[in-house]
Amino acid sequence: MKTNVTDLAILGGRPAFAELLHVGRPNLGDQERFLARIGGMFERRWLSNGGPLLTEFERQIAQMVGVRHCMAVSNATVGLELLIRALGLQGEVIVPSFTFIATAHALHSQGVKPVFCDIDRDTHQLDPKCIESLITPRTSGILGVHLWGQPSAVEELQTIADRHGLTLFFDAAHSIASTHRGRAIGSFGAAEVFSFHATKFFNTAEGGAIVTNDDSLAAKIAQSRQFGFSGVDSVVTWGTNAKMTELSAALGLTNLESIDQFIEVNEANFQCYKENLSGISGVTLHEVACESERRNFQYVVVEIDAAVTGLGRDELVRILHAENVLVRRYFFPGCHRMEPYRSLMPEVSLPVTDLVASRVMVLPTGTAVSHDQIRTICELIRFAIAHREAIAGALS
Ligand SMILES: *Cc1c(COP(=O)(O)O)cnc(C)c1O
Repeated sequence: MKTNVTDLAILGGRPAFAELLHVGRPNLGDQERFLARIGGMFERRWLSNGGPLLTEFERQIAQMVGVRHCMAVSNATVGLELLIRALGLQGEVIVPSFTFIATAHALHSQGVKPVFCDIDRDTHQLDPKCIESLITPRTSGILGVHLWGQPSAVEELQTIADRHGLTLFFDAAHSIASTHRGRAIGSFGAAEVFSFHATKFFNTAEGGAIVTNDDSLAAKIAQSRQFGFSGVDSVVTWGTNAKMTELSAALGLTNLESIDQFIEVNEANFQCYKENLSGISGVTLHEVACESERRNFQYVVVEIDAAVTGLGRDELVRILHAENVLVRRYFFPGCHRMEPYRSLMPEVSLPVTDLVASRVMVLPTGTAVSHDQIRTICELIRFAIAHREAIAGALS
């Protein structure tokens, strides 16, 4: 590849970013507050296994979401696995392919076949119109993903699930602190799973949580995340180790205190992108009308229409990476085109997923990104498209 920082800097007449701008740099709360909590942890010498920080963290998440139970876990992938097993799902579960690979892997690891379903062209969420033709006698559930911190078509999915006796549950990895019809995401379906990975809107470094109003489901998960123990010496079921540490809970409690601020920053960043990307033909900011709903704005998603820009999404990604703007192609190429699913089910055809996956680009946001940086990123995109011919030469 010939294009590098200098080529574009010369073309653009301005220096490239000296610092790498990543998608998903962690949103972090107050360092002193975190250290005070860690101080307490040192005094207690209680590092894991249901310590006071974890208990308080779970209480606050459950309260914020408005559910009876929150079981924090070491990450969302294992959270999904535990939930799939606790729900007793078997056979096939219908799931979008346009999601992070962990959604599909969690099903596969539990011996359940992910049956990939297409998405809605506008919302990027699981398309209810495509579901019923995929239901077979082996289907046991529907796993929706609230992509980009926005809700799935919850009511439509619930109606289909009820009609066919299927269990509806959600991968809410992106979507804590967002609402749907005034209700917090996390409170829909049989249960939902949040991710608190470092790159997500809200993080505990690594972590996740299963949230539900189902008492017996919660009891099962509480056991299975801890080797199947019920009491000190009694193991009553299969289990694994999916416990969240006190260290992570301390970070979680600290970051929860700043969650409103994270949203404010993200929303202002989104508006800044919106203003500065406006008028660039072929570059469309993904936006779903949501007045009166709360959003965490953690994903700034643009679609590139190469027929209009004259510059493909992948070329634009290369250019931005050369300029130290590490945009991401979430979720390219779609789970059905990755292993082991590509080999297991080569017949799957998802035209909307393929189209969207070939066009999306996720831009850096969060508390680590300034408006000046955002304006420069937008300028770069505008510049690259305006000078596509000169740049195409450099890229080839
Ligand atoms: C990040 C992510 C996961 C996995 O979360 P981890 O906590 O990293 O295991 C699952 N599903 C989606 C949609 C994600 O984006």
